[in-house]
Amino acid sequence: MECNAVFRTERAWIEVSAENLHHNVRVLQEAMPAGCELMAVVKCEAYGHGLRQVAEELKIAGVRAFAVATIEEGIKLREYGIQGEILILGYTDVRRAPELKQYDLIQTLIDFCYAKELNEQGVGVKVHIKIDTGMHRLGIPYHASSDVEQVFAMKHIKVYGMFTHLCCPDSRLLEDVAFTKEQIGNFYQLVDALKKNGIAIPKLHIQSSYGFLNYPDLHCDYARMGIALYGVLSSAKEDTVLSLPLRPVLSLKSKIVLIRNVSKGSSVGYGRAFTPERDSRIAILPIGYGDGFPRGLSETGASVRIKGHVAPVIGRICMDQLAVDITDAADAAVGDIATLIDGKTPELISAPSVAERFGSISNELLCRMGARLPVVVI
Ligand SMILES: *Cc1c(COP(=O)(O)O)cnc(C)c1O
Repeated sequence: MECNAVFRTERAWIEVSAENLHHNVRVLQEAMPAGCELMAVVKCEAYGHGLRQVAEELKIAGVRAFAVATIEEGIKLREYGIQGEILILGYTDVRRAPELKQYDLIQTLIDFCYAKELNEQGVGVKVHIKIDTGMHRLGIPYHASSDVEQVFAMKHIKVYGMFTHLCCPDSRLLEDVAFTKEQIGNFYQLVDALKKNGIAIPKLHIQSSYGFLNYPDLHCDYARMGIALYGVLSSAKEDTVLSLPLRPVLSLKSKIVLIRNVSKGSSVGYGRAFTPERDSRIAILPIGYGDGFPRGLSETGASVRIKGHVAPVIGRICMDQLAVDITDAADAAVGDIATLIDGKTPELISAPSVAERFGSISNELLCRMGARLPVVVI
């Protein structure tokens, strides 16, 4: 697989496993309660996996509900031939209401004033109302039920859904579980208040990946799946109530374009940050932080896999290049493929463990990759 001719002319690329993506969709759908639909979160170039490629596969898998962060991402999905529901989770300038309608996108109402302004455009836009149940980021406060009722009565807004976002669904600490349950309770308190006043309740959703994996018994109309769909968790350590056999979808690869012999005591790269303690063989890979591989890993350590060897990244990661020490990988040669991230060596180069080493989560690591690298679906 690693020597597929398709990749021969690329300097670095993202490999997306269609099989693993389809597998994850199946596993998640099977774990979801009856009546709950998977809403695929494909913001930020599908977490760096390539929006077009991922959307096309999800369409084949029969996924009908999508979530994005911006109107541009929503428009792109339509241009890629996606016909299902597309929810924009973030802010859109209300003056773009005609585009929301033209592309049949569902806009999140981020607060009550926003709802009024969008309604005043007089366009007729589909929306989901976001409810703030404790995150204090976006949404109408859960106790402002009369505001929410007014939104249902607005003439140029059609409410198709109502949702909230949990702020610590990943944590199993007692106090965080209690907080999450309070958030869920707040949401349903509002739902009950609306019901009492005769409001027809639209589709409801609460869970993101961790919300689903740690609170799998909630019965919602959708679960908004991001990171789990891509087959990894945010961090390496966490365990979840529901543990599913998800498979990582992305591999990050490059190839050796140069090998040089560097003698003991000389240095490699910017800042002369690496001075080998023995005569060394150094391989140059044409991939860098400009492709999303974090520069911070120069300090905390990173490794790549070449022909089954694990070779350490040495010196400072540059924008477009990095160097690895292949002294102990005697058979490594120019043209060999180096894997920087994948799911096969979890302890070293899985997305969560690489992310952890630069103080972040897989979500950030992956969504940095979308800009410059070609995506190859295998
Ligand atoms: C990004 C996002 C999600 C997906 O989160 P994951 O943890 O990746 O599953 C769900 N809901 C909202 C509101 C989001 O912004």
